[in-house]
Amino acid sequence: MTANSRCSAAEPPGLETQRREIESLLRECELRAGDSWYVMERRWFEQWKEFVENGDQNSSSFPGQIDNSELFEDLDSYHLKERLVENEDFVLVPAEAWHKLLAWYGIVDGQPPLERKVVDLPSTLKVEVYPVEIFLCLHSNMENVITAQFSRADTIQSIQRAMCQGFSVPPGSECRLWMKSSDSSCERLRNVHMSVLDACLSSGMTVIMETRNADGTWPSSRPQIMRNSVEDQDSYRGQPGVCGLTNLGNTCFMNSALQCLSNTPPLTEYFLRSSYLEELNFTNPLGMKGEIAEAYADVIKQMWSGRHYSVVPRVFKTKVGHFASQFLGYQQHDSQELLSFLLDGLHEDLNRVKNKEYIELRDAEGRPDQEVAEEAWRNHRRRNDSVIVDTFHGLFKSTLVCPECHKVSVTFDPFCYLSVPLPVSKERVMEVFFVSLDPYAKPVQHRVVVPKAGKVSDLCSALSEMTNVPPSQMVVADVFNHRFYKIYNADESLSCILDRDDIFVYELSVQKEEQEEHVLLALYLRERSHYRDYGSGSSSYGTSLFGHPLLLSVPRSSCSHEELYNLFLQRLARYVRPPDPSEELEEEEEEEDEDEEELYKTQTNGISDEENEEDKQEEACSPSPPANEQPAKRRACRKRRKTLFTIQAVNSNGTTERGVSRQEPYVAIDWDPEMKKRFYNENEAEKYMKHSSMEVPQQQTTVQLQECIELFTTVETLEEENPWYCPVCKKHQLATKKLDLWSLPEVLIIHLKRFSYTKFTREKLDSIVEFPLRDLDFSGCLLRKNRSREEPPSRYDLIAVSNHYGGLRDGHYTSYARNKDNGQWYYFDDSKVTYASEDQIVTNAAYVLFYHRQDKLRKPTLPSPITSPASSTEPASDITSCNDDDAELGATSYLTMETD
Ligand SMILES: [Zn+2]
Repeated sequence: MTANSRCSAAEPPGLETQRREIESLLRECELRAGDSWYVMERRWFEQWKEFVENGDQNSSSFPGQIDNSELFEDLDSYHLKERLVENEDFVLVPAEAWHKLLAWYGIVDGQPPLERKVVDLPSTLKVEVYPVEIFLCLHSNMENVITAQFSRADTIQSIQRAMCQGFSVPPGSECRLWMKSSDSSCERLRNVHMSVLDACLSSGMTVIMETRNADGTWPSSRPQIMRNSVEDQDSYRGQPGVCGLTNLGNTCFMNSALQCLSNTPPLTEYFLRSSYLEELNFTNPLGMKGEIAEAYADVIKQMWSGRHYSVVPRVFKTKVGHFASQFLGYQQHDSQELLSFLLDGLHEDLNRVKNKEYIELRDAEGRPDQEVAEEAWRNHRRRNDSVIVDTFHGLFKSTLVCPECHKVSVTFDPFCYLSVPLPVSKERVMEVFFVSLDPYAKPVQHRVVVPKAGKVSDLCSALSEMTNVPPSQMVVADVFNHRFYKIYNADESLSCILDRDDIFVYELSVQKEEQEEHVLLALYLRERSHYRDYGSGSSSYGTSLFGHPLLLSVPRSSCSHEELYNLFLQRLARYVRPPDPSEELEEEEEEEDEDEEELYKTQTNGISDEENEEDKQEEACSPSPPANEQPAKRRACRKRRKTLFTIQAVNSNGTTERGVSRQEPYVAIDWDPEMKKRFYNENEAEKYMKHSSMEVPQQQTTVQLQECIELFTTVETLEEENPWYCPVCKKHQLATKKLDLWSLPEVLIIHLKRFSYTKFTREKLDSIVEFPLRDLDFSGCLLRKNRSREEPPSRYDLIAVSNHYGGLRDGHYTSYARNKDNGQWYYFDDSKVTYASEDQIVTNAAYVLFYHRQDKLRKPTLPSPITSPASSTEPASDITSCNDDDAELGATSYLTMETD
């Protein structure tokens, strides 16, 4: 062997061959992104060219070993000099040419080959002579910095790999990278598949790496976790998954949905194994750039670390709000809406399909169901492939029939939850107070049954049957804070009235038809306070409403002050004692004098002097008072000083301001506190009676879950707002629609449509839906028959329930869920978690049900904490507050403490 063979693997070919081979490689080679090119000193290359063109093997122009010395700043670091120019200082040769030259000539000892990548820059392909030089350090030790070079085409993942290697991070650690700009702001490098160029990393920047803590948190987010310090110290070791979620202000809807999902074994296991990291889809325009999936993963990892009593899902909440404006802020929301958003967001963030192809949906056109269903499912999977689809998606068949041409349209649609209706009663039970004309009769509370889609007149008719008062002599009003919140017309819909409204029905002295000669007066009671009402800016004395307002018909002809005073006194006779004449004269005048003095002190501008008020009153009640009434009014005014109260025209709010309506005259009778104390019997005024209809206990309606599922598959006619375009008739038709279940997912979410919004009603249905904890069997209602043994069975066991308590406008969400590891049921109420027994789970609050198919269910790996004997070696001191006795009594007790 010759000495040559040490530095070159092959004997160089003849000079002409060398020239031809290299020249053709340089000519033919195009820049292709990702290819390697090599930087060579131009002088060496020029000399080689001269050598192969003119020289011979022994020529003085022999270039010798490849030598790039001139390109380096120094020969220790082999850093390239700055601002080298191509074709002046260096040339670029493709990899193949380089390797040939290297083989023929070798390279000066110790010099690194200057391999450079072709990068795809926005407008051009370029060999990257100068890579990006980045400083790398760990979050836990920012002092220890290493310098490394990366191509702009390298991925963030390669930086991560280099860091794991450089800092000897244990394999399997979960890492996150942050880039620190020169202004020392930090930004998360979320997408590890992104290139250095796209991430805008440039030379001189620092990349910081952190690894996930054992408790599921990230070192960098520690300040946001806000855990209590005691917990940090003893690093609580509870049952993984048994962990509260702190309420961030009306976020119980979110917490409830999260607990249900957290206790869905296939989904949680997917996140706990970190499978999501490989499937994060950063490019899906329908997704959230992976942010929802990551934020969700963070919450799940913390909840299942066993180290927290409760977790604060602040980052998750912010992300959810960021992507769905309807969840912004802290208003109360629907856990079902959030669940739907979340399942969709997680699906798109984790969609394994990176480029969704367009697939035209075909109508069945009479083809067999099996064929159409399989095609629909295949098409769905071609565009949607994620852990969410694997776990939650099923298929239903939808059949539309045109009422005119009888065209039948069959489609199969995927679903990720079933929204099943509850049987809606067509009737409604209302509780109202009836106020008789008889001044000595107490108001009577009645329970009446009315048509749900009925009108106010239906309520009057129902009440008429109990009271024998004709409906035409009734006025229905909503009383709120001692005033009329609303006075209803007979033809208004009952849906305007909510169950919690205080409805009073007043008997009138005349039929409504005769009201031309009458005025319907709304009468408020007010108490004066002897100070100026700065709040309203009004200069009158301050007043506050009290007692029950009244509605009464007054003949237009008897609207004088005196007549009204006497009428009111009569009407209030049950609880207002009329003064006997002697009492009235003597003491009254004395008091009045004092009062007057006080009053005038506070009314320096005189705008609201009492005569003025009385004028308004007169106007309000009799639009055209005869001129000759004036003297009478004066007399009344003087006489009034000896009355129990004064009469004021007011607006519907009961305040004496401008804008007093002439349409519906509202008047207030104003009492001095002293007079009220003496003559108004508060105790009596508040009394009422209960009609026998109130005695009948209200029956709690109970329905079976199967009934709801049957309702889901019942033929319905489309509503006018949502018609179907018939391709045969070429117009929109109110087709009939029938849904059928075709195939069911591993985890079936059933949403009970308790919130019913129809044209006529908005209500929450609080019937008890009886749902089984085990063996929910769908074999009877699945359209697809089990044709082969491979078909999954259709029996399900309950694993979680989201509960809603309260009415339409407010409410609280909690959840019941079964821990996958120990099989125990727990009750999650924000940050509180308690043991639950199976008999507590079915209530009228159940709102969203989670069922797991039996073939996928796994036996708990741990004994139940309640039923297992105390032989466990685990100290479990944190949950001993719930001992066996408690459990047997069915009592719930706290396992965990609120930490916020
Ligand atoms: Zn048609």
